[in-house]
Amino acid sequence: MMLTTVNIFFVNICIIFLVSTFTFYLLRDRLPIQPDSMMSTRLYFGLANGVTGILLMHHAIDLNGALIDLRLLPLALSALFGGNVSIAVTGTMLLFYRFLIHDGASLNVLLSSVITLLGFLILSFICRRFITRQGYFFSAIVTVGSLLVLWRLIISNSPVDAWETIYIPYFILTIGGAILFYRLSSLLQQHFVLYSYQSYLASTDQLTRLANRHVILEKVTTLEKSNASWSVILFDLDHFKTVNDTHGHAIGDAVLRHFSIILNEYCPVPVTVGRYGGEEFIIIIPDSEQYSPVIIAETIVTAVQQTPFVMQDHAVSITVSAGIAYAHHQPAEMVFKQADAALYEAKTQGRNQYRLYQS
Ligand code: GH3
Ligand code: MG
Ligand code: MG
Repeated sequence: MMLTTVNIFFVNICIIFLVSTFTFYLLRDRLPIQPDSMMSTRLYFGLANGVTGILLMHHAIDLNGALIDLRLLPLALSALFGGNVSIAVTGTMLLFYRFLIHDGASLNVLLSSVITLLGFLILSFICRRFITRQGYFFSAIVTVGSLLVLWRLIISNSPVDAWETIYIPYFILTIGGAILFYRLSSLLQQHFVLYSYQSYLASTDQLTRLANRHVILEKVTTLEKSNASWSVILFDLDHFKTVNDTHGHAIGDAVLRHFSIILNEYCPVPVTVGRYGGEEFIIIIPDSEQYSPVIIAETIVTAVQQTPFVMQDHAVSITVSAGIAYAHHQPAEMVFKQADAALYEAKTQGRNQYRLYQS
């Protein structure tokens, strides 16, 4: 008997673990979830907790004849992270499940479930007004919620003297489950927040916020395998050493950021813009038939010339040279070499211009 209870309890924990991991993974770019997160995030979070709740109801624990389940926990988690919107979604799902599937369509069941849900919303509202710390908030609503469930258990058909067999074990399971659920959710959120941040750092150039070399090479590897008519434009700022020598390295950095803003401004959306090296930038065009690299290069070279970098007391004129190469099923490495050769030609022919590689 005891073993069966413990067994089902661990099945419950597994359900919680599985759905939570999946949910936080899917929402990894939107963490942490808060009552003021995007509406779709709160709706989704409520939905996921609704699924957990339904599964938990389905795996109710038989405590010496009294069936109890842990649906309070996902409801409390919705309240903790997602606020009223998530509670409403989770609660409505649990309510419908109970009303339509579990207990049959009895009006009394529906009424009592609606009252329970409203009670929970009020409880969460009151707790949020007075408790700011997340852990305390969760503990408070789980404790009050489980006491209410306990009270309902006692006034329903359960025997009054079942403290040792039903009520205390119920309380222990709920509080134990709550602690595990809370710790797990917090750790998973932290983990995925860090994961997203590390992925961002690993793919972004910190000075210009453009894609870094690693992302560019990954993009090119994908294009290389496809039949796309892709192309590359390599940019290199002209006489950039002079900018550094004349105005200092910090101004040099600011000029690099200035150039990256121009690049972003003039590149159509499907194009990948990246920093390839020091003052070398790259554009990968996935569909050269729709977006002509020649037009893009021309636009950018002109824009850079016409947009000097303005400092407090004076402006620094900058120009850029560009080399273009089309991929005609040659290896990506070759496309890069060809763009580099075209860039070299632009440099030797006077800079401030673009050249297209011609075989
Ligand atoms: P060219 O027109 O032939 O390209 O002349 P250049 O002076 O731009 O050419 P070169 O490649 O010799 O100089 C590049 C300079 O870019 C050298 C280096 O100090 C500077 N540089 C590279 N990375 C950074 C950076 O992150 N910040 C700053 N401020 N300067 C950088
Ligand atoms: Mg250079
Ligand atoms: Mg240069």
